[in-house]
Amino acid sequence: MISDDYSFILSIFVGMKDDFKHKGLRKKLVDTLKMKGIRDERVLEAINTVPRHLFMDSGFVGHAYVDKAFPIAADQTISQPYTVARQTELLEVDKGDKILEIGTGSGYQTAVLLELGAVVYSIERQNELFKKTSLFLPKIGYRPKKLIFGDGYQGYAEEAPYDGIIVTAGAPFVPKPLLAQLAVGGRLVIPVGEAVQVMTVITREGPKKFVRKEYGEYRFVPLLGDKN
Ligand code: SAH
Repeated sequence: MISDDYSFILSIFVGMKDDFKHKGLRKKLVDTLKMKGIRDERVLEAINTVPRHLFMDSGFVGHAYVDKAFPIAADQTISQPYTVARQTELLEVDKGDKILEIGTGSGYQTAVLLELGAVVYSIERQNELFKKTSLFLPKIGYRPKKLIFGDGYQGYAEEAPYDGIIVTAGAPFVPKPLLAQLAVGGRLVIPVGEAVQVMTVITREGPKKFVRKEYGEYRFVPLLGDKN
């Protein structure tokens, strides 16, 4: 296992620094998110801490702290900071909560969840991204419990139930296995729809009781399945 000291030194050698300039830009980003209505101080602090520029391909580092989505590998995107903040806020993560993320992508959302003290499982279906992010996160000190190469439509039954499940791609419908894998009291945060998605929170209030609320429209890359 790589020690934290070693990974810090390694990060300097491969140009992964986080200096006062990045920190200043992050503060401004946090102010923007507050203005747009993000209220949860713990979520804002997590955004203020995670070095988003390190999750993006080098050519785009200058864009890391504007509130926009950006291309990563395999035709995917790192979600817009507002979207990450809003989904995380809706997930209501407490320290020690067991969280399943669908769509690891760059690992940025994973890192935000880890900053909140969650125990994180995350699934990615693109092998290239799965491999890249599996190597990258520990390099900068983020250790999810497990990254899984697989199909998020199935969830990850091996570790169920989860206190929260967050889907970071647009789902044409709510996959049944995700509901089945929620703990009672747990929440599923999922953008539902085809071209445009409605941010949907489904809370499991009892073994058979699910309560659904909607929180506005978003645009995500699609949650892909066997047929697409
Ligand atoms: N959370 C990511 C967002 C990445 S975009 C971040 O912070 O960067 C959505 C991701 O979902 C993409 O990486 C895409 O490959 C992945 N994805 C799409 N369909 C999936 C599926 N069925 N199972 C798991 N991951 C999926």
